[in-house]
Amino acid sequence: MGETMSKRLKFHLGGEAEMEERAFTNPFPDYEAAASAVFAAGAAEDTGCARPQPTADELGLPFHNDGKIIHNFTRRIQTKIKDLLQQMEEGLKTADPHDCSAYTGWTGIALLYLQLYRVTCDQTYLLRSLDYVKRTLRNLNGRRVTFLCGDAGPLAVGAVVYHKLKSDCESQECITKLLQLQKTIVCRDSDLPDELLYGRAGYLYALLYLNTEIGPGTVCESAIKEVVSAIIESGKTLSREERKAERCPLLYQWHRKQYVGAAHGMAGIYYMLMQPAAKVDQETLTEMVKPSIDYVRHKRFRSGNYPSSLSNETDRLVHWCHGAPGVIHMLTQAYKVFKEEKYLKEAMECSDVIWQRGLLRKGYGICHGTAGNGYSFLSLYHLTQDKKYLYRACKAWLGRFTFSPTSWYQRHHGFQHLNLPLRRGIKRCSETTKTPTCLDQKPDCLVPDTEPTVNPEEGKTKKKRSKHLHRHPLRCRDPQVRA
Ligand SMILES: [Zn+2]
Repeated sequence: MGETMSKRLKFHLGGEAEMEERAFTNPFPDYEAAASAVFAAGAAEDTGCARPQPTADELGLPFHNDGKIIHNFTRRIQTKIKDLLQQMEEGLKTADPHDCSAYTGWTGIALLYLQLYRVTCDQTYLLRSLDYVKRTLRNLNGRRVTFLCGDAGPLAVGAVVYHKLKSDCESQECITKLLQLQKTIVCRDSDLPDELLYGRAGYLYALLYLNTEIGPGTVCESAIKEVVSAIIESGKTLSREERKAERCPLLYQWHRKQYVGAAHGMAGIYYMLMQPAAKVDQETLTEMVKPSIDYVRHKRFRSGNYPSSLSNETDRLVHWCHGAPGVIHMLTQAYKVFKEEKYLKEAMECSDVIWQRGLLRKGYGICHGTAGNGYSFLSLYHLTQDKKYLYRACKAWLGRFTFSPTSWYQRHHGFQHLNLPLRRGIKRCSETTKTPTCLDQKPDCLVPDTEPTVNPEEGKTKKKRSKHLHRHPLRCRDPQVRA
């Protein structure tokens, strides 16, 4: 017994050390504690206490009672955006000129300026975005097909930027080129994966992005249907081969591993299939997608976190690419589509894991940085209107800037996407009052990140990538800060 206990203790301490290495210990009280301090202060006021009532700011609440973000906090974010933009432009002078992806390269910068234009309505940002779009469109390489890592990203963002500038001819040219990629996507014999980063779901994202940003019908229904069918057929085939047709009718793999997370795994694929704009029929959703989601749900750890692949039993990564911060979006979407409480309950449990273990040391980015984890809180806030999640999102942002990253690269990589999701989310929060989240809203949790993901279960990929990374000043060179 004593031996067992000491082993357990060792495991426990090892786990804590590992957590320390990957994430900061969250120093903030959770919302309930912070809010009860406000009530206590209010009660003191009611009983005639002479001390003036502390403001939300003094109490550490970043918003007022009605959910409106306090002025100071908004100002801090605005100042930080300005500061980081300057740093980014400086860094871009030595960035890899050939990386045109939305995930780590120039399309990501174009997307950033497009988002700044959306938030501020300042035309100069749109023109800036155009500069970067032009650069990326000159450098399409035909190697990959997805929004995040392939030519579909520059083409889709290009189409939107030209559309906003009323250059319809150029916009249409981008759309035509994007649709020309379709034949490689739907080809049954190709070894194209289905996941979001390099596969069919990542191409589908580009098509749905256009219909959201430019308008329904920009990409016709039949084109979308063809891609969706290819994804579904591929999932059915693997499920049959693996004899899982009963338990998991749609099964997917990448590099021969059945990944779970948003970037390479089933969570990202199911999330895309559940988008109303993907127009997957109700029967397929109920008979195929839902049981597959439930199969993946049963693989979750007791902590509420999810494994990186179906066969992995290590509860280690809390990232958008691998773990709860990515899977949470599948769960919230499943709740919207199937209206079953269990999905919302588990999404909330994902949020608890992220709050406890997700203040990552590795940087600002969405894929495996603070922004991606902060985003999950905003998604839950939009869905539930529970201020606890808005509070957590604001604190995740604060946390990122309260603790100094440990290396230059950690300070710089991924920052272009940190502030904007939060800024946009916060803007939306102040715009949406009690309106429930629209079912066909843009799948914005999949906004690209700035750092290449690393397959955590394949040493080979990791080595190859780290060699490659040395040539990319925008990317992180320290293996400690990668997945
Ligand atoms: Zn990642």
